[in-house]
Amino acid sequence: MDFKLSKEQQDIVQAAREFARKEFREVALEFDRTETFDLSLWKKACDLGFVGVFIDDQYGGAGYGFLEHCLITEEFWAEDPGIGQAILATTFGSELLQLFGTEKQKGTVLPGLTSGELILGTAITEPDAGSDVTGACTSAVKKGDQWVINGSKMFITNGTLAQYVLVFALTDPENPSRHNRHSFILVPTDQPGFQATKIHGKLGIRASDTAELAFSDVQAPLENLIGTEGDGFHQLMAFFNRTRLHISAQAVGLARGALEESIRHTKKRHQYGVPLASFQATQFKLAEMATRIRASRNLYYEAAWLMDQGKVDHGLIAMAKWFAGEMAVRCADEAVQMHGGYGYIDEYKVQRLYRDCKILEIYEGTKEVEKLIVARSILGL
Ligand SMILES: Cc1cc2nc3c(=O)[nH]c(=O)nc-3n(C[C@H](O)[C@H](O)[C@H](O)COP(=O)(O)OP(=O)(O)OC[C@H]3O[C@@H](n4cnc5c(N)ncnc54)[C@H](O)[C@@H]3O)c2cc1C
Repeated sequence: MDFKLSKEQQDIVQAAREFARKEFREVALEFDRTETFDLSLWKKACDLGFVGVFIDDQYGGAGYGFLEHCLITEEFWAEDPGIGQAILATTFGSELLQLFGTEKQKGTVLPGLTSGELILGTAITEPDAGSDVTGACTSAVKKGDQWVINGSKMFITNGTLAQYVLVFALTDPENPSRHNRHSFILVPTDQPGFQATKIHGKLGIRASDTAELAFSDVQAPLENLIGTEGDGFHQLMAFFNRTRLHISAQAVGLARGALEESIRHTKKRHQYGVPLASFQATQFKLAEMATRIRASRNLYYEAAWLMDQGKVDHGLIAMAKWFAGEMAVRCADEAVQMHGGYGYIDEYKVQRLYRDCKILEIYEGTKEVEKLIVARSILGL
């Protein structure tokens, strides 16, 4: 296995880094404070080809692999996690559509995601069903040529912005297997009975939109069912294998941002007549951060590389996600520590990173859930 990036991949990294440095730095603090985002930045990223690079070229993507998407993700998150999420999560669900959607469904949604005309959301979590997704009770019932959807969804990324939402709905509540009761349905959000309410007061990634969704007799054509009825849970596991890779890359990016800020600060700031970086205690912190980042990056490189060879390693992906998430939380904490009081103020980027990092241990499978997956894979359960 060779993890040396190709010239083309190195060029992608360079271009993503330059774009993020040029476009994010000036606006990151304002978006964080005001919980807002300027969609023109997303459109710019689409125009430059950074969004949805893993989408097939026939649907407007670059036809690259997940590794290339992860490389862009790492660069965007190293500069600012909130903006990185606001831009790159606009395709959240396209992985599922690519795997299981019909030609018509893919043709309707995917081209708009890369051209900057459409935003997608994926709604699984509910007020009473989080880690245990099989507890989701939003229902979809067939009536004539339509699905009729009722229920509510919680914490949905892009909820107030998306033109389409992939809804994880209960379609066969009587099925004896909890793993065959749900299906995904592609729901246009301009339907009567759909309501999205923005959630305010998030700890971090505040430029990214998160919403609560309500469905009251919302209709979607029967042909908007994704794949086979009752396959939703299995589709979700395959989907998470892709998106959890992205989260590992988010974590590595965030931790790298924390390290870069810490190196800059500890070289510049003097105490006791010398730079902070000359204290061995500081050097140990920097050394540990750099090593943990590299170990986490190698995990996601390997998992993404295997994925792009068509070899999905469920246990390795779960390892990469929890390890990188926990690593990022630790690095952000050390970064604030090395900044002293300045690290406590939001004008210093590390304060934002300290708040932004926590989500990495929560969404798309908490770290506890990821460890359960790792354990099952090594125990062969
Ligand atoms: C900013 C943000 C964006 C999000 N975006 C989306 C989105 O776009 N779409 C979507 O569907 N959801 C989204 N989510 C929801 C997210 O995926 C869930 O919050 C997450 O899966 C955890 O579910 P929960 O919050 O209900 O916590 P719970 O499941 O109630 O978990 C609470 C605690 O209990 C622990 N726990 C639960 N079960 C076990 C177990 N078996 N063993 C050990 N510990 C356990 C968990 O690890 C956790 O520590 C988002 C959340 C946030 C905060």
